[in-house]
Amino acid sequence: MDTEAIVIRIKTPSGDMDSSVDCPSLLNFNDLLVAIRDVMPEATVTAFEYEDEVGDRITVRSDEELKAMLSYYCNTMNEQRMNGLLPDPLQIFPRAGKTPGNRNIHGLKVNTRPNPANDCTHAVPDSIANNSLKKSSAELKRILTNGQINAQDIHYQEQLGHGNGGTVYKAYHVLGKRVLAVKVIPLDITVELQKQIMSELEILYKCDSPYIITFFSAFFVENRISICTEFMDGGSLDVYKRIPEHVLGRIAVAVVKGLTYLWSLKILHRDVKPSNMLVNTRGQVKLCDFGVSTQLVNSIAKTYVGTNAYMAPERISGEQYGIHADVWSVGISFMELALGMFPYPQIPKNQGSLMPLQLLQCIVDEDPPVLHIGQFSEKFVHFITQCMRRHPKERPAPNNLMDHSFIVQYNDGNAEVVSMWVCRCLEERRAQQAQGPI
Ligand code: ATP
Ligand code: MG
Repeated sequence: MDTEAIVIRIKTPSGDMDSSVDCPSLLNFNDLLVAIRDVMPEATVTAFEYEDEVGDRITVRSDEELKAMLSYYCNTMNEQRMNGLLPDPLQIFPRAGKTPGNRNIHGLKVNTRPNPANDCTHAVPDSIANNSLKKSSAELKRILTNGQINAQDIHYQEQLGHGNGGTVYKAYHVLGKRVLAVKVIPLDITVELQKQIMSELEILYKCDSPYIITFFSAFFVENRISICTEFMDGGSLDVYKRIPEHVLGRIAVAVVKGLTYLWSLKILHRDVKPSNMLVNTRGQVKLCDFGVSTQLVNSIAKTYVGTNAYMAPERISGEQYGIHADVWSVGISFMELALGMFPYPQIPKNQGSLMPLQLLQCIVDEDPPVLHIGQFSEKFVHFITQCMRRHPKERPAPNNLMDHSFIVQYNDGNAEVVSMWVCRCLEERRAQQAQGPI
């Protein structure tokens, strides 16, 4: 069967809910039922239906029938594509039985007081319906994309890089038939702490943004945690040379959108820097390595003590910090990407990760560096200067960041610019590697 992603549309009384299923071949009947029940908690759903080409409803009650449905749908999808059409989502109609309370099979007296939660005709206010759909969408995504990644189903291919906490590998998930990036972090912690980290990581299933790396799964094996995410074939921005402003503008739009999304979930990134901004040959830009698990951050910090050179002055000097500290890190990161070097000459590029405090004191003491108008556009220089104001409150507020003229100018959805630039750089890198050392 086709293994490409499909969209399933669950038709419910309170609206349609679309969810993308990355690996339909991994989907089983029970998973889908659990997901439907989550969307329609008030009903007893034991089966669902789909429509064939003449509109007849066909019931699905087992894995076999689910397989038949998926293969019917994949054929239709291929036909639609061949006719130059965009495939419709796979529409399924949950079959809701009566709730046990209403059925009253034993003739027991039932409480006849109206209960809005059980009343299907009760109009659900939009906001509540949307909220519950939103929550369910996250849950559905968790159930459907999890694909039960087990350590033994991962084939490690090559090491992509090594950071302060762990090592990142390119890997292949055999069952899901997809390439992953797996970050492996050695952690000597108790089982209790492991459980806490796993539950803190749950929020990653809910992150659903084109500007945030997709999280697939995490698991502990002995004293190592493995975090499986989407693989980005362009890697991280720290290894690129000076990035031209028209490319950087489109990258900045994606980074600001990604951060705005995280902030809307009350998540501070805490580690904004070029090595945590990933790109791919499709021109997508995504953020990774944000600190959702306090326990994980603390456990890593116990082993690797140090301060990061992209941190805002208030963080380096140990003061309280908030969203504005992420804004500073955006400023200093984009300044580095534009210059091709870390903006404080005392601190060399690529050594900016973990540093002794004394070296970083200049970030606290000196006036922040500025870009030169002439070399860069006025809008870009203003953007960086605003993000790198020494006093946090003087930096743009989260809502103002999207409205900055530099961001507005490049918010044109033109992924082609980034895509072409990534492809060209990768091509150059390959050519250089082929030539070998001079
Ligand atoms: P730190 O540990 O301080 O975060 P870092 O970001 O450089 O430093 P890692 O997060 O361990 O270190 O990542 C190491 C490298 O692996 C990155 O620099 C990047 O090049 C690569 N990498 C990480 N995640 C992915 C991914 N999803 N797709 C492709 N490459 C990745
Ligand atoms: Mg990283």
